[in-house]
Amino acid sequence: MKKHEHDLVIVGGGAAGLRAAVAAREFVDDVAIISKVNVLRSHSVTAQGGIAASLGNTEAGKDDSWRVHFKDTVRGGDGLVDHDACEVLTRGAPEAVLELNNMGVPFSRTKDGRLDQRPFGGHRLPRSLYAADRTGHGIAYALYGENVRLGVNIYDEYFLLDLLTSEETVEGVTAYDIRSGEVVGFSAKSVILATGGCTQAFEYTSSGAASTGDGLAIALRNGIPVEDMEFIQFHPTGLAGSGILISEAARGEGGYLLNDDGERFMKRYNPDMMELSPRDQVVRAMQHEINRGKGIDGGNHLHLDLTHLSQRTLWEKLPTISQIAKDYANVDPSETPIPVQPTAHYCMGGIPVTLDGRVKLHEEGKNWDNLFAAGEAACLSVHGANRLGTNSLLEAVLFGKRVGKAAAKAARRGERGQVGGDDLAEKDDMLGSLLASDGSGRVGALRCQLQETMSSRCGVFRSGEELEQAAAEIQDIKREFEENLHLDDKGRTFNTELRSALELKNMLEFASAIVNGGYERTESRGSHYRLDFPEKDDGEWAVHTFIKKGQGGNYRLSYRPVRTGESG
Ligand SMILES: Cc1cc2nc3c(=O)[nH]c(=O)nc-3n(C[C@H](O)[C@H](O)[C@H](O)COP(=O)(O)OP(=O)(O)OC[C@H]3O[C@@H](n4cnc5c(N)ncnc54)[C@H](O)[C@@H]3O)c2cc1C
Repeated sequence: MKKHEHDLVIVGGGAAGLRAAVAAREFVDDVAIISKVNVLRSHSVTAQGGIAASLGNTEAGKDDSWRVHFKDTVRGGDGLVDHDACEVLTRGAPEAVLELNNMGVPFSRTKDGRLDQRPFGGHRLPRSLYAADRTGHGIAYALYGENVRLGVNIYDEYFLLDLLTSEETVEGVTAYDIRSGEVVGFSAKSVILATGGCTQAFEYTSSGAASTGDGLAIALRNGIPVEDMEFIQFHPTGLAGSGILISEAARGEGGYLLNDDGERFMKRYNPDMMELSPRDQVVRAMQHEINRGKGIDGGNHLHLDLTHLSQRTLWEKLPTISQIAKDYANVDPSETPIPVQPTAHYCMGGIPVTLDGRVKLHEEGKNWDNLFAAGEAACLSVHGANRLGTNSLLEAVLFGKRVGKAAAKAARRGERGQVGGDDLAEKDDMLGSLLASDGSGRVGALRCQLQETMSSRCGVFRSGEELEQAAAEIQDIKREFEENLHLDDKGRTFNTELRSALELKNMLEFASAIVNGGYERTESRGSHYRLDFPEKDDGEWAVHTFIKKGQGGNYRLSYRPVRTGESG
């Protein structure tokens, strides 16, 4: 079986992985990225609205500073933002975006040639730099170019199967080479997990098909905790029916939300910030309207009205979403409002890390020596219980760079790990038994069941009873997966059914953590709203949730207080 050796292996080629690789190349020569999709198909490429930094480039935003950005982020995070991490994020933002500009990201400009900035939800000043509504595309392509220039080894279409560890040191990883069908070993001196988000576990989602939280599940199976998983962000404006994202930039540029009466209902929920209130508030307001029968024609969607915006704004600043509305909803947004509904969008939680991205062993204290995480897969607690739009690309590139540096330095000090033939044979057997499975349950149907459970019982509004039911349904799906699966495609190369089965197994793993964390948190905060506990309870719950898989497969929960301080 094949083995590769590199100083640093980064799993994931989205904004975080690509930025980490560029930073790492300053310190080590031999950097590799492994990605289950072509890196330019990573979800980061689809990011639309922008990236936040307090440059203060526009007249309306001229008083901006990192302190205002910090305060907005802390306020949006509803009491769960760790202040030290948030200070690093907001202080470092201007430098992080200017570096991207220097790498060639085609940011949109003001008339006098400065980098333009537009308003976004929860940010009190226009702070979002953007490249029309294709910001992620611009960032990913510029970073990819840097990776090619620096000679980073890119392994596209390799699916991470597991970490190889010995006593809190990572030796490398195993992966399934989707093209050849082989199990391949990668030994490394340090490893970064930058495997992205997990909202494919929900029925309506804005995330790409690859956002199946593989890194989270692999962490859980290796005894690594996950943090704050109950905080799943629902974005207000998914295209009705499909969940495809219509960027918040549409509201940033002046779009309205209307109910069936044609009323701008946000004036009853947050008259100051209206449609640009933090996402958790807008989503709850929308769901309230839908639940009280004020969805369009009494259905489960509302209208995003852009008809009053100029053609020029639509085509210069919002071309992608205008096209999406035409292609997928048959609506010309210059003439007709776009039908929208809340869509699962982002995971505030993830693998807990230090400010340099080192993976934590426990809620406090010890960390892994040479295992790191970055981007949406990691939890730095910069977003707390609710992320503000445009802060995620920022987190991915800013911390991507820090983590790339730290991991490369660890690689310089470290020994290359050992990947044994037995490790590979064990994974090969696992794939073999999945392929041989001959029950009657189909991967696609089970995946749909999981998505329906998560959307209907663990969505915008939750209750103890619904979450208990969700936990039971997930167990049933797990059982069906383990005891009664059937794969039609028995081949090894480009077996998309096998790949989906691996992803489903991973989604079932972390979905239990989301539901468990949500069940235990008997309060409402940020994106986690309990109908049976509607109040925020700072006395009891201003804490981060840690979930670890114990012996026998049970999930163990523990907590740590939020780090607050003088910053800002
Ligand atoms: C439609 C949409 C629009 C958005 N718009 C914005 C925005 O305007 N501003 C903003 O700040 N944020 C936005 N976000 C959020 C932001 O884009 C993401 O949080 C961020 O890009 C995540 O970057 P990442 O590098 O962590 O992960 P991703 O870009 O998701 O990359 C994950 C990588 O991991 C790899 N991977 C995953 N599992 C495996 C495996 N098992 N084996 C091998 N490789 C694996 C994938 O192949 C991929 O390369 C948006 C999100 C969505 C869904």
